[in-house]
Amino acid sequence: MAGNMEVLRWVRPHLLNLKPYSSARDEFSGEAMVFLDANENPFNAPYNRYPDPLARQLKSKLASLKGINPEKIFLGNGSDEPIDLIIRLFCEPGQHNVVTCDPTYGMYQVAAGIHNIEVRKALLTADYQLNSREVLRWTDQNTRVIFLCSPNNPTGNLLDPAAVLEVVSGFQGIVVLDEAYIDFAPDHSWLKRLDEFPRLIILQTLSKAWGMAGIRLGMAFGQPEVIALLNKIKYPYNLNMLTQQKALELLQNEEKKEDWVRLLLRERAKMADELKSIPVVKKIFPSDANFLLVKVENAAAVYGHLLSRGIVVRDRSRVILCGESLRITVGTPEENTVLIESLKKYPIMNIQ
Ligand SMILES: *Cc1c(COP(=O)(O)O)cnc(C)c1O
Repeated sequence: MAGNMEVLRWVRPHLLNLKPYSSARDEFSGEAMVFLDANENPFNAPYNRYPDPLARQLKSKLASLKGINPEKIFLGNGSDEPIDLIIRLFCEPGQHNVVTCDPTYGMYQVAAGIHNIEVRKALLTADYQLNSREVLRWTDQNTRVIFLCSPNNPTGNLLDPAAVLEVVSGFQGIVVLDEAYIDFAPDHSWLKRLDEFPRLIILQTLSKAWGMAGIRLGMAFGQPEVIALLNKIKYPYNLNMLTQQKALELLQNEEKKEDWVRLLLRERAKMADELKSIPVVKKIFPSDANFLLVKVENAAAVYGHLLSRGIVVRDRSRVILCGESLRITVGTPEENTVLIESLKKYPIMNIQ
């Protein structure tokens, strides 16, 4: 356990000693028949009752799906919540810094910025791989967290596991590995190896493969000491009753998720294949996720052309190392056909 406790030395000291808000439902967890403890309205069941602050039923379902102890799971309002809470837990505003591996997901920088935490950007290589030496070079005695994202957004590729290992074992602080797109990737998640790395926190979400972006449910996996601290500093009722119920219900159908993933992977391959024969497309980057990063001639013009036909993609051309590139999500077969047919009409449509 000494190995696990070591992570506590990185926690902001005042949070170690913080006494959290204790809700009525925290203090009582037996089987009562009359609840007169929380100033709820007795009418309008079941919406009148506060939800379980620790979402225990949902956590136990996820624990069995993921093959992990519920004490190692934190549940939040999307992954965005644990990203924010991890920064709050470990980083002293105006003093500490975090390292991101750019180009990557924008929320790490925003969350750090909100807390006045310096963000140091270590560039990925030209083929979007993790350069572990470059990442470690950016760290100093004030670096508390390194954010890795695999498969990475917006590039789509998995990070080389050997390089991830070098970062995780070469850095003394916290490493966050964001696996939002892991269900689409051929490699297995790092979740199986969680216990080998007491300072590793893995993020996953129901927003992508599970098709539940609208209900906002993100997961963080880590050692129980870290998870307990995240639970201590979160809003008491961060997951509302509707989210907890709907997630429990939809998680029963894992086969459906797997069908979707298979279909989307087929569609991704087909889309990549069809894009190859479109003259304006210069490069299709290899993807392990449910989107493709595509380099085109004049991204702004292609983006505008698609938009004029009612198709929205993401213009990433102002993102570092992503010049003239669009990020295109894989949709239904029909949607993907509309995209390809529209691209085939470019730029002819615009000349007329
Ligand atoms: C979409 C995405 C998420 C998911 O965020 P939620 O808040 O769970 O919806 C997390 N990380 C990355 C890299 C993403 O692209």
